Amino acid sequence: MRWQYAGRSDVGKVRQGNEDALFADEARGVFIVADGMGGHVAGEVASQIATEMVGPGVSRAVEQGLRGEDLQERALELIEEANRAIMERADNEPEKRGMGTTVTLLALMPGSRYLFQQVGDSRGYLFRDGALTQITRDHTVVQQQVDRGALAPEQARDHPLSHILTRALGTEFDVETDTYSDQVKVGDIFLLCSDGLSGMLPDEEIRRILLSPTGDVQQMADGLVAAANEAGGLDNITALVVKILP
Ligand code: CA
Repeated sequence: MRWQYAGRSDVGKVRQGNEDALFADEARGVFIVADGMGGHVAGEVASQIATEMVGPGVSRAVEQGLRGEDLQERALELIEEANRAIMERADNEPEKRGMGTTVTLLALMPGSRYLFQQVGDSRGYLFRDGALTQITRDHTVVQQQVDRGALAPEQARDHPLSHILTRALGTEFDVETDTYSDQVKVGDIFLLCSDGLSGMLPDEEIRRILLSPTGDVQQMADGLVAAANEAGGLDNITALVVKILP
């Protein structure tokens, strides 16, 4: 399996600093988007701890030949370690109290399978045969209301409480991840993004940009970030695009 990657992270139009972080090990097929919270410096630290602890650890596991449930378990251990590290750092440095981060991990595995591990509201999408599907499920109060039928999905995107998370790294000793795994097809495009992208752009707009006639992944990532900025850029924006090649 071969693939091509491009990523872009941008401060947006309103925020002072960028609390998003991304990790990409293109050779081993390991990609992460993390969206930090807890105030400027603290949020940056939390998302950085997540990408720096989980990313290289999963890369090593892939290199050691781990796959399937073994890789899934290793990724979960690394996410748990990052969770503890963020909590300890917040305990020791009062100005970092309350910091946390999302983490959305994509690993491409032998046998043409993908693995997503997810905590928070950064998203993993799959664009296949012209259709865009959100693979991951947000860990937010608003998503819970959608699940209960109390809110229509189209009311969720710009809901005033859309940023309230029900799960994040750094908030509780036990962290639970959601796992999504399935087959990969040639031509598939994976998009990992922070809510500064998915909150600013409807899925139809994301789909339109991924339909790019040139098929260039850097143009897609740049185009997504530019469109989110044009729509207001109210939050930090991160887009990471991975395209599966023949
Ligand atoms: Ca955000």
